Amino acid sequence: MNFKIAIIKGDGIGPEVVTEAMKVLSRVAEKYGHTFDFQEVLAGGCAIDAYGECLPQSTIDTAKAADAVLLGAVGGPKWDDVPGDQRPERALLGLRKELALFANLRPAILYEELSQACPLKPELVRGGLDLLVVRELTGGIYFGEKKTGEDADGKYAYDIERYSEKEIRRIAQVAFDMAMLRSKKVTSVDKANVLDSSRLWRAVVNDVAKDYPEVEVNHFYVDNAAMQLVRDPRQFDVICTSNLFGDILSDEASQVTGSIGMLPSASLTTGNFGMYEPVHGSAPDIAGQNKANPMATILSAAMMLRYTFSLKEEADDIEAAVRSVLADGYRTPDLLSNESDPEGLRQIGTVECGNLIADRIY
Ligand code: NAD
Repeated sequence: MNFKIAIIKGDGIGPEVVTEAMKVLSRVAEKYGHTFDFQEVLAGGCAIDAYGECLPQSTIDTAKAADAVLLGAVGGPKWDDVPGDQRPERALLGLRKELALFANLRPAILYEELSQACPLKPELVRGGLDLLVVRELTGGIYFGEKKTGEDADGKYAYDIERYSEKEIRRIAQVAFDMAMLRSKKVTSVDKANVLDSSRLWRAVVNDVAKDYPEVEVNHFYVDNAAMQLVRDPRQFDVICTSNLFGDILSDEASQVTGSIGMLPSASLTTGNFGMYEPVHGSAPDIAGQNKANPMATILSAAMMLRYTFSLKEEADDIEAAVRSVLADGYRTPDLLSNESDPEGLRQIGTVECGNLIADRIY
């Protein structure tokens, strides 16, 4: 099969980690007889340097014409003095908007090999952990009407949480579709005991559930969900929630995984088009030193194969290769804590990590 992938390497460690992901994708293409047509374009600080703007129209056009986008990270101290609305990070918001990416997928996977890096008690995560937070990305309180004003009581400010049935239905459908690819369980998170918007959320999720009779659905209030994530995280498979609650819960869930260098993400729109990127930023403190962990980006590429290209076996292959490299004791510096590490771990750099993963796909 042939796929066009828009490649946005970005700034800092972005080019280093994306290069390793492309290496792994090329190996997958070779093994399975696919063609990945990589189309490199600029966004972020490097685009400001080259074109005077963080998200040139040519980048948007290439991304729209592609089957998927793979992005590294943008930003860095070099562009600290650029005015707010032109900062490198604005490119991300611009891409989300232009590509209508309304669903954010953040898996939190704790590999057994990294379990010593998990802050939870070992018995809570024995056997590893694998859950997926599906967060609504373009609606809710972050995009609702907002105002700061003053009246007889002094200053006031408000932000409105508003969701339409259409917005809830489409994010719920993504969550249920994901659950069908996984363990067939959706936990919808809301605050329906207090909020009208949550009561609509819950009703629409229940309605969508009727189309997925194989999927078990339950509902948690957000305060309980936050507690359960650290009390018994293995009870979750897919968590479906709003923009605000998802922002908080996805960060909480990610903390159980050990390192930010391990966390992939996807942002999807209708028709399976998606932008795939590691959760981390451009890490200017380690850029250009061959120290960055490329696994989050490589795992983001695996998500791209699974969710946009429907290449399940190929995605499984990449994930198995990552596990195998960890199981053999190889670690980039971010995964080494020194005190509690088991014996026999070997420190590797970004390039060696990419090579080891690619070499396990044959
Ligand atoms: P960061 O994620 O870049 O770095 C936080 C810490 O994690 C640093 O110590 C860094 O060295 C480490 N780290 C991050 N990724 C790593 C990896 N793959 N391997 C090993 N260690 C890793 O967050 P920050 O320092 O707050 O932000 C730096 C820049 O990145 C800022 O300009 C910020 O705006 C930008 N940023 C971009 C994105 C994005 O492009 N999606 C996301 C977050 C931050």
